[in-house]
This record gives sequence, structure tokens and C-alpha cells, in this order.
Amino acid sequence: MSIKKPIPEREVRGRRLCPVCKQPSYSASGTHPQCMQRNNDILAKKAAALLLAPTG
Ligand SMILES: [Zn+2]
Repeated sequence: MSIKKPIPEREVRGRRLCPVCKQPSYSASGTHPQCMQRNNDILAKKAAALLLAPTG
């Protein structure tokens, strides 16, 4: 019978979830570079849509 060692909390804590794809990311920002680019594209499109939308 073997006892499973619990995963050290530090190991779990060190994993940041990418806000874009919700996958663990080890980068300093916590976001994958490609996801950041994708997110920027989405934000740019949203901003453009807001700017183009008629007000009132
Ligand atoms: Zn990601």
C-alpha cells in the first residue's frame, strides 16, 4: 500500500491561469504571448466597433 503525497501548495500556486485560454501559464505576466496577441486583437476590434458605432 502506498500513500500518495499531496501536491505541494507552492507548485499549484506557481501556476497562473491564462485569462484568455484558461490554461496554466508559466510566463511572468501569466498570459501566453500568443493569447495576449489574440486578446489585443479582440480588444482592438471592440474599440474600433465602439468608435464606429453611432452615439445616441
Ligand atoms: Zn493562453
